[in-house]
Amino acid sequence: LLDLNLVPIIQDDEFGGVLLVLQDVSAIRRLERMRSEFVANVSHELKTPITAVKGFAETLLGGEVDDPETARSFLQIIFDESDRLNRLIGDILELSKIESRRIPLQFSPVELTSFIGKSIKLMSAEAARKDIEVTLKAEPGIYVEADEDRLRQIIMNLLANGISYTPDGGHVTIVVKPVAGTQYVSEGEDYDQIHISISDTGIGIPKKDLPRIFERFYRVDKARSRGSGGTGLGLSIVKHLIELHKGSITVESTVGAGSTFTIILPVLQ
Ligand code: ADP
Repeated sequence: LLDLNLVPIIQDDEFGGVLLVLQDVSAIRRLERMRSEFVANVSHELKTPITAVKGFAETLLGGEVDDPETARSFLQIIFDESDRLNRLIGDILELSKIESRRIPLQFSPVELTSFIGKSIKLMSAEAARKDIEVTLKAEPGIYVEADEDRLRQIIMNLLANGISYTPDGGHVTIVVKPVAGTQYVSEGEDYDQIHISISDTGIGIPKKDLPRIFERFYRVDKARSRGSGGTGLGLSIVKHLIELHKGSITVESTVGAGSTFTIILPVLQ
């Protein structure tokens, strides 16, 4: 995309010609468009729960609901939607902090078997509620350099998605695998890779949606994701956090069979 400007050249009050200035503004325009799309998305996402809260509160205040059970169900909706609003705002703030690099990471060696084991424990109530078995396959003694809080956030997010998008009675499996022979050099140091994959036997993701699921607010099925309490920002946050660890994330999925998200982290030799 080119911006064209004509600048008259005037010297000693004499018209000396015209300067043609061509500037490539595609990157600037793209950024502007992304920013305004994001603001529009945020406004829309915030408006939906606020409309529900306001509507149901208005009905209750109007005194037209006599049945206590109906009144209670309205209050429950108000509570749930406020909760969603809270999570949404938290995620938006989190994302903006990460993107502007306002979160200092504190790196320390993390032993993955016990670390992931603890994250699984934190999700065990949710897994049990859906009768989903979570299995960890990892050799002890595998370390990565990571910020513990952020790594926990990454694992918990992917684990929560695995449980959330898997029907009752399914399985979620986490496999930790050091990948040999993938040595590469980054900033003068030799690294090897650790692959942490989180697989589920869930609904899967259609091929056409796969390239977009790490985008902010992108969801395959908006209604379903909202119903499960999702904000549509989880994977976007996960991707950013992994990149702050100099890692990357990949996804493979088959509709109706399940999905595998693989976190690839460099490991200091
Ligand atoms: P959400 O809050 O909607 O879960 P995410 O950013 O975590 O937002 O995920 C984006 C979308 O990717 C989800 O709405 C869902 O459509 C899809 N998705 C994420 N994880 C899985 C999974 N394990 N199985 C199936 N679909 C998934």
